[in-house]
Amino acid sequence: MLHVSTRGAAPAINFTDTLLAGLARDGGLYVPQTWPSLSKARIAEFSGLSYARTAEAVIGALIGDELPQRTLTRAIETAYAAFRHPAICPLTQLGDNLFVLELFHGPTLAFKDVAMRLLAGLMDATLEAEGRHVTIVGATSGDTGSAAIDAFAGSRRADVFILYPHRRISEVQRRQMTTSTAPNVHAIAVEGTFDDCQALVKGMFNHHDFRDRLSLAGVNSINWARIVAQVVYYFTSAVALGAPHRPVSFTVPTGNFGNVFAGLVAKRMGLPISRFVVATNDNDILARALADGRYEKAGVVATASPSMDIEVSSNFERLLFEAHGRDPAAVRAAMDSLAQSGGFSIPAPSLGSIRAEFDGYRTTAGEAVATMRKTWERARYLLDPHTAVAVNAAERAQERDPRTPMIALATAHPAKFPDAVHAATGIRPELPSHLAELMTRKERVIVLRNDRQAVEDCIEREARARTSLAAPAQG
Ligand SMILES: *Cc1c(COP(=O)(O)O)cnc(C)c1O
Repeated sequence: MLHVSTRGAAPAINFTDTLLAGLARDGGLYVPQTWPSLSKARIAEFSGLSYARTAEAVIGALIGDELPQRTLTRAIETAYAAFRHPAICPLTQLGDNLFVLELFHGPTLAFKDVAMRLLAGLMDATLEAEGRHVTIVGATSGDTGSAAIDAFAGSRRADVFILYPHRRISEVQRRQMTTSTAPNVHAIAVEGTFDDCQALVKGMFNHHDFRDRLSLAGVNSINWARIVAQVVYYFTSAVALGAPHRPVSFTVPTGNFGNVFAGLVAKRMGLPISRFVVATNDNDILARALADGRYEKAGVVATASPSMDIEVSSNFERLLFEAHGRDPAAVRAAMDSLAQSGGFSIPAPSLGSIRAEFDGYRTTAGEAVATMRKTWERARYLLDPHTAVAVNAAERAQERDPRTPMIALATAHPAKFPDAVHAATGIRPELPSHLAELMTRKERVIVLRNDRQAVEDCIEREARARTSLAAPAQG
């Protein structure tokens, strides 16, 4: 399968190239040239299959025949062997026609594990085949970094450096990054904010000499393979509720729009999905854009659902590309306007086509707390603050369409945000048993000034040691 850039001025590339590509050279994001489709009969067959077998069918259709079947099978098996639930992503009923899809049974308790672990397996296999070695650098506000450190720990082909804002993430998030014993993964605490960390990473990628010397690679949410991995649970959950014979709707707590875009991919492949509810917290740029067609930055506020405290939702560009009938010139014009004036308007026909499939809802901080409390009291079910944003939006959306089953995506385990859950419900969720000793394990962290040279020196030192160790094995 070939992949084209949303901005139309970069060469089309294969799936395995998207693993390492990051942004296209024209600044765009890669999407498949065409959407593969699965027949109704084929989708109906998924009802008897395990998560792994469904993943093989769905991902296989999206990738084409570029990877050997056994490479894909092995990457899937390895990725999901570490999950703590036999269904991998189980569905729980919360109310009449209201379901929660639990995506947090992976090692770091957030849905990022679902995609990051598969990406790591596919990347390792590709690098191994090509005899290459890469240095992954990324910035995190918590969940992406812990998933990346877990997924790439012990990789023979990738060193990982994750920058996070010193003293500004939760203790569970920090310990998930600092207690790994694998020598190829490194947590770097930067004396600064998340934005400072992101600027440092951007600066390193723009420092071409450094970038080439260390073969820098990224694993952030624009990575196409991460979206591919997330398409699978839309199929497994919808089929569990009767698809393809009856449609379902999804509510997705959204930040960078990667998760909900994966849902659109499932729909394009033939899964009957009635509506997507895009749920935001108080950082509601997406809900506003869907309401009035104006995508406009307004400043980020800190909330109890920090993984959704995002102002520029990078994967929204992929939706725009679709809504503009895949016209890259229209996407370029919108993105130029965003860069120059902090916003753009979505033309009426494109907005109409988006609204035909998506609704936007904002859940305020107070509403999220009330939903956490109410759900505990009524159903004895603990929601993490991100999932609470989704469940609140899902309940409001259901008032308009009570008959279609609604699946709200649960993106984090409540124990990952124990203080917020305790404040809302009076209950302090316990860490799953495999993480019980997390709070007493030895931490390993490098604290650095907010200074690109200092970070580059550190990475060069650590990654070089690793390269020279790996060199004899490469022959
Ligand atoms: C990353 C994240 C989100 C947002 O997902 P996007 O794909 O960026 O929209 C929501 N909830 C949690 C817990 C996350 O870690």
